Amino acid sequence: MPVLRQITSCQAPATTTLTRHTSARTLLWQGHVCHRHRHLLLQLTGASNLNSRATRPAPDPAPRCGTLHDHQPIDQAIESHARMWLQTPAEGTWAEQLTAAAALAVYTGDPQADALTEIARAAEDGPAARVLELLAQVETAAAVAARR
Ligand SMILES: [Zn+2]
Repeated sequence: MPVLRQITSCQAPATTTLTRHTSARTLLWQGHVCHRHRHLLLQLTGASNLNSRATRPAPDPAPRCGTLHDHQPIDQAIESHARMWLQTPAEGTWAEQLTAAAALAVYTGDPQADALTEIARAAEDGPAARVLELLAQVETAAAVAARR
């Protein structure tokens, strides 16, 4: 089951869709954005430029801008959260990265600090799927806070 993420607070219908697969053609994620938020596809891929042939017009009816269906394993998913909003070191296991992110958020007084602390606790013994659901919720809040 993919995790449903919302990477913008934008209410516009998406106009562009980008799909990423592994080299073995396993679906990693599919994201939909409007024209104004098209640059976020670059951030999602971690690339410096986007091959425009890789994008397609959004399906009809268009999903809301910022809709992301994430099928990635948790370590890759956390990397993608880190590219979008999560401040975490790239070192360590995914649970260690989340613990470090929570500690940093508390230290800097980040508005997401309490939620990240809860996620770090869930990462200690919870299933990965639960951790990814919680991360998706905080990402949505972070997008609203950033007025993205
Ligand atoms: Zn948008």
